[in-house]
Amino acid sequence: MQLLLALLLNLPAVLMYHQVDSHTPPDKIGRALTISPAQLSDELDYLESRHLRGVSVDDYLQANAAHHDTGDMVILTFDDGYADQYTDALPILLAHHAHATFFITTGNVGRRNHLTWNQIIRLQHDGMSIGGHSVQHVDLASLSPARQQFQIDGCLTALRDHGIDADTYAYPGGTFNRATEAILTKEPVALAFTTDPSHRLGMRPQFEIARLRVKDVTTMAAFQRFFTKLK
Ligand SMILES: [Zn+2]
Repeated sequence: MQLLLALLLNLPAVLMYHQVDSHTPPDKIGRALTISPAQLSDELDYLESRHLRGVSVDDYLQANAAHHDTGDMVILTFDDGYADQYTDALPILLAHHAHATFFITTGNVGRRNHLTWNQIIRLQHDGMSIGGHSVQHVDLASLSPARQQFQIDGCLTALRDHGIDADTYAYPGGTFNRATEAILTKEPVALAFTTDPSHRLGMRPQFEIARLRVKDVTTMAAFQRFFTKLK
């Protein structure tokens, strides 16, 4: 309990990304999910200029467990398992000595524009961490507990079958309910992430962590404002 409290009190800002592609998508939804490689690179440059480290959730968990200082950490997360996260985001992360957590929707692995299992394993090999993001990318709060169980457990099992022990989870669309949290207490999940704070239930804070969404329209000034409260 004490460890959990320390974990949550020290929690760094958590950024949420989706696609990283130099090609601007023609449709509105695609554009809302996509930033350019130059934008990601500029944002990581900014973190470096502030002596902030871009880390994965697992980096944070390990540092916290070892009682190391986590005050200079910013957690980077990428949702949905798009192929450009391997082709475009990974080289930029590595060039900046940054890590990130990639939340994978296992039913989409290998599909058009999505990561393959080999790429996911390579991400992990390069120091990135992998978390769950359901089997079929459905809003958990709209499902019965049994169907939620399938989405959560099926995802974590598919990852495990590929040698990936995921101990973090992100809710598709950010929605969850009490049944979701009850399921997660029986899974080896340390932390679970929503999108914005409006989804919080105020029940189990370790399963209700809000993230800051970085969009194509997020200017550098807006990005910098994410960190005004940090030292
Ligand atoms: Zn998603």
